[in-house]
This record gives sequence, C-alpha cells and structure tokens, in this order.
Amino acid sequence: LYDPANDSAGVDRLALLTELRHGIDAGELRLVYMPKVALGSGRVLGMEALVRWQHPVRGLLTPGVFIPHAERTGLIGALTLEVLDQALAQTARWIAAGTATRVAVNLSARNLLDRGLPTAVDERLRRFGVPADLLELEITESTIMADPARALVVLEELAAMGIHLTIDDFGTGYSSLAYLKRLPVTTLKIDREFVDGLGQDPHDSAIVAAVIALARALELNVVAEGVETEEQQRLLRLLDCDELQGFLISKPLPVDVFEATFLTRS
Ligand code: C2E
Ligand code: MG
Ligand code: MG
Repeated sequence: LYDPANDSAGVDRLALLTELRHGIDAGELRLVYMPKVALGSGRVLGMEALVRWQHPVRGLLTPGVFIPHAERTGLIGALTLEVLDQALAQTARWIAAGTATRVAVNLSARNLLDRGLPTAVDERLRRFGVPADLLELEITESTIMADPARALVVLEELAAMGIHLTIDDFGTGYSSLAYLKRLPVTTLKIDREFVDGLGQDPHDSAIVAAVIALARALELNVVAEGVETEEQQRLLRLLDCDELQGFLISKPLPVDVFEATFLTRS
C-alpha cells in the first residue's frame, strides 16, 4: 500500500517543482558563461550559457538538480524561454558595447517537440535586436532521437533562420549516421567522457580521433568539451580539432567576471 511517509523523495520533488515554477517568475535563475576558444589562436569564439538556480533556502543549485525534474513536467518550456531571454538580453548589451560573440543555449528534448519553438526564438531575436547568427542552440543526440522526424522539422526551421546548431555530448547517444547526415547542424561537440581519457585510454583517444575525422568528412566544425589539461589540449591540436571548452580555459563564470576576463581582450 502507498504510504506517503515512505515517499519523502516524491514530496521533495513536488516541492522543488512548485518552487521552481515560482522561482522562474521571481527571477531566481541565473546564467553563468563558459568560453569556447579556437585551438589555433586561443581566440574566444563564443560562449555557452549554463543555468543556475539561486534558491532562497538551498543556495545555488546546478542544473543536474532541477533540469531533469523540469524535463519530466512541462516546466522545461518556460525554463528554456527564460534562459533564452537572459542570454539574448545579455548579448544585446554586448552588441551595444562592441564586444558581442556568439552565445550558445542548451535545449531539452521537449523543446524540440514543440512546433512553436522557432517562432518563439524568432520573436525573441527581433525583440532583443540580436542577429540570428549570434545564437547557437546545443542539442543532444537523445533529444533528436526521441522523435527524429518531428525534431528535424523544428531544426530545419531554426537553421533556416540562420541559427547555429550544435550536437552536444556527441558519442554518448544513439544517433544514427543516416540522421546525422541529414541534420542541418554546423558543429559536433565531443563529450567530456572521451576527452577525459585522451592520451591515457587508447579507446578514448581513438574515439576522439574518429569523431574529429567524421566532422571533417561531413564538413562540420568540431569542439572538444571538458578539456582540463595542457596535454589534452596538445593532443587535440595534433588531431586538428577546431575549438575547445573546459576548465583548462575557464570554469563557468558569472557575467561580470566573464566580461572582465574574456571580453576586454579582443
Ligand atoms: P552540457 O551542455 O554538456 O554543459 C557542459 C557541462 O560540463 C557544464 O556543467 C560544465 O560546467 C561542465 N564542464 C565543462 N567543461 C568541464 C571540464 O573541463 N571539467 C568538468 N569537470 N566539467 C566541465 P553544468 O553547468 O553543471 O551543466 C550540466 C548540464 O546541464 C549541461 O551539460 C546541460 O545538459 C544542462 N544544462 C545547463 N544549462 C541548461 C539550460 O539552460 N537548459 C537546459 N535544457 N539544460 C541545461
Ligand atoms: Mg551544452
Ligand atoms: Mg556537453
């Protein structure tokens, strides 16, 4: 028999969701920014916006704590639009300051099943006066494979607007190469799991080399995520990877620190 006393996790989850719904409206979501740099020149080519929740009682929460719950309910729709609003408002400020680079926002599976997403994104680009090619959307393979036909329609509309599309965590999902060939994406981002073992685990090194070769063959840009050591950077350069992102360059930073560290140099 169901006994609520045994289901504290369920109650906790419900409380978190109610609080998140309120927290989005109350402006408790914050973005931190992580640079993406060119492997050759070290130039900052753009950044990824990552969401944090400044919870009034629990403190600063990372996305792993609340994104999965938001995904299971409809709340991920509102969360994504809030993240887009903040990232585009910030980009508009950087445009005004003459320091704008491309900003990447993460999408969840449900976002791609929403046929209204392209219109919602378009409306925001216009409202904030941000050119479409300053926006990048990161999607994972599993996001696409949830309903490839429907996702493809949404992705094609977004790509036609001039938005850059990146496959995140590449190598961890089950995307078929047949779909990859047809997807209007510009970039593959190699998952941290493989970059981690680069130069140490021969299988990881082989996978990284193969993904870079695949990207070259498909004329896609390739980014390595989770780069933490000089040695990994050296090997990625040898393998002809285009860009890197990781703690070696920077942890995700609050906007003022990101600006002071990365945007005054250019
Ligand atoms: P992701 O999109 O693959 O983002 C990269 C994650 O890896 C970030 O964690 C980042 O801090 C971490 N990372 C990057 N480089 C390194 C490194 O060198 N070492 C280590 N140890 N970690 C590194 P974070 O911010 O906790 O985000 C986790 C995931 O949550 C993201 O993975 C993304 O899937 C999701 N997420 C974050 N923000 C959003 C958002 O606004 N919307 C949605 N739908 N999902 C988001
Ligand atoms: Mg990402
Ligand atoms: Mg990733």
